[in-house]
Amino acid sequence: MMAFTLELDDDQVTVRDWLHGFAAEVIRPAAAEWDEREETPWPVIQEAARLGIYSLDFYAQQYADPSGLGIPIAMEELFWGDAGIGLSLVGTTLAAVSVLANGTDEQIGTWVPQMFGTPDDVKVAAFCSSEPDAGSDVSAMRTRAVYDEAKDEWVIDGTKTWATNGGIAGVHVVVATVDPALGARGQASLVIPPNTPGLSQGQKFRKHGIRASHTAEVVLDGVRVPGHCLLGGREKLEERLARARERAAAESRGDAGQRGRNAAMATFEASRPAVGAQAVGIARAAYEVALDYARTRVQFGRPIIDNQGIAFTLADMRTRIDAARLLVWRASWMAANNRPFTAAEGSMSKLYAGETAKWVTAQAMQILGGNGFTREYPVERMHRDAAIYTIFEGTSEIQRLVIARTLSGLPIR
Ligand SMILES: Cc1cc2nc3c(=O)[nH]c(=O)nc-3n(C[C@H](O)[C@H](O)[C@H](O)COP(=O)(O)OP(=O)(O)OC[C@H]3O[C@@H](n4cnc5c(N)ncnc54)[C@H](O)[C@@H]3O)c2cc1C
Repeated sequence: MMAFTLELDDDQVTVRDWLHGFAAEVIRPAAAEWDEREETPWPVIQEAARLGIYSLDFYAQQYADPSGLGIPIAMEELFWGDAGIGLSLVGTTLAAVSVLANGTDEQIGTWVPQMFGTPDDVKVAAFCSSEPDAGSDVSAMRTRAVYDEAKDEWVIDGTKTWATNGGIAGVHVVVATVDPALGARGQASLVIPPNTPGLSQGQKFRKHGIRASHTAEVVLDGVRVPGHCLLGGREKLEERLARARERAAAESRGDAGQRGRNAAMATFEASRPAVGAQAVGIARAAYEVALDYARTRVQFGRPIIDNQGIAFTLADMRTRIDAARLLVWRASWMAANNRPFTAAEGSMSKLYAGETAKWVTAQAMQILGGNGFTREYPVERMHRDAAIYTIFEGTSEIQRLVIARTLSGLPIR
């Protein structure tokens, strides 16, 4: 186990500064344009791929950092640059992580490199779980995958919604129900290879924020994929379903424990600090603009920061940002060092960082006055971007639910 420290080592400082330079020189200048265009910023992704920032190798190296801080440091810097472009740069990792977590070595080797493509031919990938009637409640999922034994193919039908990169991705990873009676435990993830007939993009959403990131419905109409596209393989799926049936039977007898559920929760929890780190990046960016503005904007013959009302707000902004980062780093270190989240520390970090980003960006707008409300200054965009951080990857209410259940051990609803 690696001891927790706030001192970054030389490698971490080098990566942080490198990404900061990319965020300042490439992402920031492009942010307003792609926000207005509401399109995927392909030239920025291509440049990131050319430099090795948009690549499997880069993310694998950050994940391998034994301190756990490689990913949160990278996320904070990229999203300090711009959240919409940041999400276009990291959206692929959602799909990649689902293959890394559930796939066989062969599936990982086949699909994950294809998700990123090459610097000359960059690709993005999509992870499709949410549905119109199954957002927070994943057990309500209707998309169905049925195995066609004769052809060794899975047939998938349903409609996914809110998918980041949905429809423009090469590889899509889709979560589908294979045994509806088992609810969330009867689901499996399948890879849909590029250009598979039956998969199409539905509505592309016009959004409040992170508009440089593509979000769309994905329609699956009789999609057929080879048997080897089931992540983890059939044998593992059958074993898992058998265990789930036993557990369901035990629960109906009233003698089931919480262990299975907690194991699944631990996996989700581990990815949440990375999302929290993105929120920290947005909050830090808005705070810096506000601090700078408060020092230079003169009203009543003195800089507005001379007023306690402004200075104390900035003090609170900075305090909350630092607290959010500490929660993110703690959870990231715990996840990397296999420490159990006994107090839902992963959810805590995402909850606090997401709420902090929303609050800090709102304060920044207020400090900039009329300018804060215009698109001449970036805090208006940052505030719109921050709003998603209390919604996706588990809403703030769902994080509180997870924390409360973990602390109490009770099935709080
Ligand atoms: C820009 C964007 C990108 C996204 N990217 C992806 C993606 O790539 N892949 C993917 O699969 N999904 C993605 N999502 C979906 C996202 O994860 C969901 O929007 C989120 O999980 C919430 O689901 P919902 O929108 O259906 O809200 P609902 O679940 O309908 O919730 C509505 C409200 O009710 C509250 N609520 C629900 N249940 C409870 C409860 N038990 N207790 C208290 N309050 C409750 C919620 O907190 C929320 O405030 C994305 C969404 C957006 C907007």
